[in-house]
Amino acid sequence: MNSQQTIKNLHDLEFDNQFTREMPADPETENFRRQVSQACYSRVSPTKVRQPQLVAYSKEVAELLDLSTAAVESDEFAEVFAGNQVLEGMDPFAMCYGGHQFGNWAGQLGDGRAINLGEVLNQKGEHWTLQLKGAGPTPYSRTADGLAVLRSSVREFLCSEAMYHLGVPTTRALSLVLTGEQVLRDMFYDGNPQREPGAVVCRVAPSFLRFGNYQIFASRGEIEPLRKLVDYTIRTDFPELGEPSREVYLRWFEEVCRRTADMIIHWMRVGFVHGVMNTDNMSILGLTIDYGPYGWLEDYDPNWTPNTTDAAGRRYRFGNQPQIALWNLVQLANAIFPLIEDAEPLQQSLDEYADGFEQGFQQMMADKLGFSTLQRETDLPLIEELQQVLQLVETDMTIFFRRLAFLKAEGEPTSDVAELMAPLMDAYYDPAKVTEDVRAKIVDWLQRYLKRLREEQSSDVERRERMNLVNPKYVLRNYLAQLAIDKAAAGDFSLVNELLELLRHPYDEQPGQEEYAGKRPEWARNRPGCSMLSCSS
Ligand code: AMP
Ligand code: MG
Repeated sequence: MNSQQTIKNLHDLEFDNQFTREMPADPETENFRRQVSQACYSRVSPTKVRQPQLVAYSKEVAELLDLSTAAVESDEFAEVFAGNQVLEGMDPFAMCYGGHQFGNWAGQLGDGRAINLGEVLNQKGEHWTLQLKGAGPTPYSRTADGLAVLRSSVREFLCSEAMYHLGVPTTRALSLVLTGEQVLRDMFYDGNPQREPGAVVCRVAPSFLRFGNYQIFASRGEIEPLRKLVDYTIRTDFPELGEPSREVYLRWFEEVCRRTADMIIHWMRVGFVHGVMNTDNMSILGLTIDYGPYGWLEDYDPNWTPNTTDAAGRRYRFGNQPQIALWNLVQLANAIFPLIEDAEPLQQSLDEYADGFEQGFQQMMADKLGFSTLQRETDLPLIEELQQVLQLVETDMTIFFRRLAFLKAEGEPTSDVAELMAPLMDAYYDPAKVTEDVRAKIVDWLQRYLKRLREEQSSDVERRERMNLVNPKYVLRNYLAQLAIDKAAAGDFSLVNELLELLRHPYDEQPGQEEYAGKRPEWARNRPGCSMLSCSS
């Protein structure tokens, strides 16, 4: 463990709550549901729970906060991170934000089941906001209970950390704690609510601000608080852009566009489908935020959405994520327009998003294919046609790319089709469906791909090493998360912790762990939780 991790007692954590100190607060301090205007947040305390029990924690996130293992494994830790105890220096609050849900303006939403505890100032001088998800109702809970269940909390906890280790910008997760309470949930929205174990995840990020935080002010014509929030965001999270001014607002928007494009490119690289890209679920820092009904592509199907609520329109399907991010950025542009009063430069940044995304996407695909430089003339058609090849039959995206690195470009080209295809056969869900015709199309692409690889200066081994850095072997397959949930619900947290450990090294071979790199088993094809998630996830 890192020698810098000196904090053994949680009371020694240092808090510096810039956000609540500087931003306008809701004067009302009673906890009841309401509309909140002219304010960025409402102070609210977490609800006490019966019996906190630590299920899992991330040692890397503990390290960010300088927390020692002893501190995390103390009884007090479970109390604090279930919401039973507020440490001195914390200043708990829920944020006010709005959002477009499924393309429609939904008005005020806000932290309905998230409570920010405060900002830890670590030894490096970094601010990390701690946020409990599922710690009870807030003024923004509307008709819901402010709680979270074990199932959704395991998913959020594991996926946050898995994404981090994959190199995808994301909010982090410090801990997963059972509350000892039972929570009523209608998982299938079919009028059959069940009691499920309640849980709380502590999320950690430099800031949890979302596009919706800016939108809510604009929607109400509250321009001064809007300006305050934008200035604050720039000063605290984008200081490199300079002191806030009209010019800097524009640079800031451009940077948000750039970061958002970067995040989506990573999602497309690893096969992540967020599932509910409403504008209130878009981080202003370009972090993946709000792990709800997300899913991982198994079969490469750009039309796949994991979210049952999205099944009809498929707005949030894998292949549509780049366009939706742009749509969301347009909404953010509209929100900050009153500070700029000129659409032209905002439009320019949006155009740059589109161009930047395109170029970044092509480079990312070139990396996945092991090209040391992108040669547009040969590579763009190969990338384009690969989209078709991957959809000829049910093909596992993660396995396909990982196995592609085993192709041999050195030595005599083989004319044996079976030999050529051999490294990839594991990626096909039903090898019998790889008919003569399908095989011919795949082989045609492979041969052109191999021809291109032979123009590379690198050896097969060197190329494979490069490809293995961008094509993960292990991702949080939907059914794996579900298996961990099933066990955890029965009181066995071993698989949660095993997966957490496995996913710390997603690009490593990890001999002996191959069972976690395999295709989704048939039983999981249509099982809820494995292929279909609801928003209540
Ligand atoms: P989501 O789509 O999960 O990001 O949630 C949309 C809005 O609903 C946000 O304002 C959430 O805080 C709120 N919300 C979701 N689940 C709950 C819950 N169980 N209790 C209170 N508010 C919730
Ligand atoms: Mg949300």
